[in-house]
Amino acid sequence: MLHNIHHAEALPPSLAALPPQTEEEARETLLALCWPDGGKACPRCHAKAPYQLAGGRLRCGGCRYTFHDYTGRWLNETGLSALKWIKLTQAFAAELSTRETAVEVGISYNTAFKALTVLRLAILSQGADARQFMGPGAPLHPLLGGPAQDEQRPPNAPLPVYGLLSRSKHIFVDLLPELTAESVLHFNHNFHLRVVRHGSILITDRYKSYDALILCGDENMPYHYLLRHPGHIFAESGGYPFWDYSRPRLRQFKGLSWRRFPLYLKELALRYNMRDEDFPRTLLAALCAFVPKFT
Ligand SMILES: [Zn+2]
Repeated sequence: MLHNIHHAEALPPSLAALPPQTEEEARETLLALCWPDGGKACPRCHAKAPYQLAGGRLRCGGCRYTFHDYTGRWLNETGLSALKWIKLTQAFAAELSTRETAVEVGISYNTAFKALTVLRLAILSQGADARQFMGPGAPLHPLLGGPAQDEQRPPNAPLPVYGLLSRSKHIFVDLLPELTAESVLHFNHNFHLRVVRHGSILITDRYKSYDALILCGDENMPYHYLLRHPGHIFAESGGYPFWDYSRPRLRQFKGLSWRRFPLYLKELALRYNMRDEDFPRTLLAALCAFVPKFT
């Protein structure tokens, strides 16, 4: 699955080196990302050149819709100011914890948690496979339209399995709807597919074209199985660069749930893939994109 997240050419250069210091500068940075070619358009009918109303609002000449610069975009999902969003993406890029991010940005822990969830959803929504992860019935669909609290997994709902695929220096995370946790345990038990457990996360050795399969369990399934398999490194595979990169990072994600797990997997893949690039700018571009509508 290729990702179309590298659409940041029209953006202000070297954001990482010279971040905006004032609310006004921050707002200009975000506006340049929201309207990369300068011209504004209606988020509902895409008609160009809306009327400027008082208070920064805009009205579409075609469908009469009244909106503002951030309407329908990820960064409109919380009440953070432009400068706080920019500080939050910098804290995220620097791998600060949620608590450290809250202090750094000057917001409450809960606000930081919600905003970081929005940022992770924005990252995932940039992928060509976003519908698979966020569409109706997908694990993340309940978090769209305001990150809701995690629900319990319905008793008979399968635990999703993800495939990790590396191609040259990039890693891809695919949702594999044809596989469930049960099938992975079956491969392990009957076909000697090796598994390693780290907390509630199970990772396998190579499977078909995938470098590994990975899943996040919960207190029901497959926890008892997981308890019998303490973590150890695969002896024969000679290590797996992305997993070596991810393991210490996943450990920091406390209370990682099966539902949120793909957000963190996609985040880690993007971090890994962008380790030599301007990560904060990519994050802001994702936040300024429109929230997709899946029906
Ligand atoms: Zn319109």
